[in-house]
Amino acid sequence: MTGQRSTDRPPTLGVGVDIGGTKVAAGLVDADGTILDSVSEPTPAGGKIAALVADLVDRLRDRATAPVAGIGVGAAGFVSADRSTVTFAPNIDWRDEPLGADIARLLDLPVVVENDANAAAWGEYRFGAGADSDDLLLVTIGTGVGGGVIQDGDLVRGGFGAAAEVGHLRLVRDGRLCGCGQHGCFEQYASGSALVHDARERAASDDPTAAALLARAGGVDAITGPMVTDLAQQGDPLCVDLLHDLGTWIGEGCASLAAVLDPTVIVIGGGVGAAGDLVLGPVRAAFEEHLPARFHRRVAEVRLATLGNEAGIVGAADLGRAASDRTTSTSAPADRTGD
Ligand SMILES: [Zn+2]
Repeated sequence: MTGQRSTDRPPTLGVGVDIGGTKVAAGLVDADGTILDSVSEPTPAGGKIAALVADLVDRLRDRATAPVAGIGVGAAGFVSADRSTVTFAPNIDWRDEPLGADIARLLDLPVVVENDANAAAWGEYRFGAGADSDDLLLVTIGTGVGGGVIQDGDLVRGGFGAAAEVGHLRLVRDGRLCGCGQHGCFEQYASGSALVHDARERAASDDPTAAALLARAGGVDAITGPMVTDLAQQGDPLCVDLLHDLGTWIGEGCASLAAVLDPTVIVIGGGVGAAGDLVLGPVRAAFEEHLPARFHRRVAEVRLATLGNEAGIVGAADLGRAASDRTTSTSAPADRTGD
């Protein structure tokens, strides 16, 4: 299945770049979504990121065995509708940063800038868990909740480039305060941070079922998500219960999103995948329970992501390559009538 959609593309490579709060990683990716080579450096101050990206791409290009056709850059934040400017980034001091133009000037290659979660959704759509679907919802459960939407084979970006911020779907009126300034957002209940918050709250309340978790952590503040997952896999009732709650929140959020988007496949990404069916079972149950008109429609399949942390780089690289295909096809239209 991998690469099925690549048959009409030239045998060129793309570079995908993931700009994180602590490091900038770049991968050289082929037309089948395979990462051939990668480099990374710590994230510098805002203004120097374009120069670092250009340097990382040059290093990969020097070692590459085929031409690099385009660059895709994934960054956390809002990206303008023309995929060039980061209009707002929560972790880096960027306001209307012309990142795409700055990198393109240094490299003389097409550059596409994309929201990091959108890039990951594109990666799972092209080469991962959603490669058999043209209508895909990716929900990534990490520190927060991210995601992306593919509709009819295209990324949904919205009129201003800020669509698909699925983590900020409101689930609870006057609920927990979110970093976005609103209350009751999906990610305040369905994220890894929410899992840790709930686990620590249970452990701090003298709940006798928290004994094993407390013994493992050595103290309330030392409880982590992987500890909860690990104990749940050993059958610890509290930790099973915590993952069940997490999965239920994820499923409820997905049901509301599906009411609007009607995906055929929902891909669950992020660290929560390590919990497997302990979380996926409750996700599916809550999704079906809360899906509007459940018995009068077809129900999306819920699956775990398959590309892991590499989804963003793989997706961004493919978007960069696709941008170069568009440039090529406008300047030299393909004439296949004589083939
Ligand atoms: Zn929010």
